[in-house]
Amino acid sequence: MRNTKQRTAVLEFLRSKRQHCSATQVYDAVRVKFPNISLGTVYRNLSQLLEDGKIISVETSDKCVYYDGFTSDHAHFVCERCKEIYDFPLVSSISGPEEAGFTVLNQRVVYYGVCSKCNKNNA
Ligand SMILES: [Zn+2]
Ligand SMILES: [Zn+2]
Repeated sequence: MRNTKQRTAVLEFLRSKRQHCSATQVYDAVRVKFPNISLGTVYRNLSQLLEDGKIISVETSDKCVYYDGFTSDHAHFVCERCKEIYDFPLVSSISGPEEAGFTVLNQRVVYYGVCSKCNKNNA
């Protein structure tokens, strides 16, 4: 029962944030409510939520994983300079596999590059 409550707290935190959070950020937030929770438990809850399709994850090019409680299809842009993760509407085309008779169940689109803010700062 306690695990379910903790999992709900993890999910609620991620859904309340319109940002992408690392496991450590989730841990710090959930610890306020559950002081005894361990980082390992947070990781377990996060992987269970991922498995259940309740959250999605984004990996940066340096292999840091961020979690997102906003699961409707969207593309991610990871800035290589400031490490910020941005949400974008999905515009990629899946016609390639579908024309070949494949059924696409879900898609992950992650762009890696330099965001407009960093481009401006660089100019
Ligand atoms: Zn940037
Ligand atoms: Zn996102």
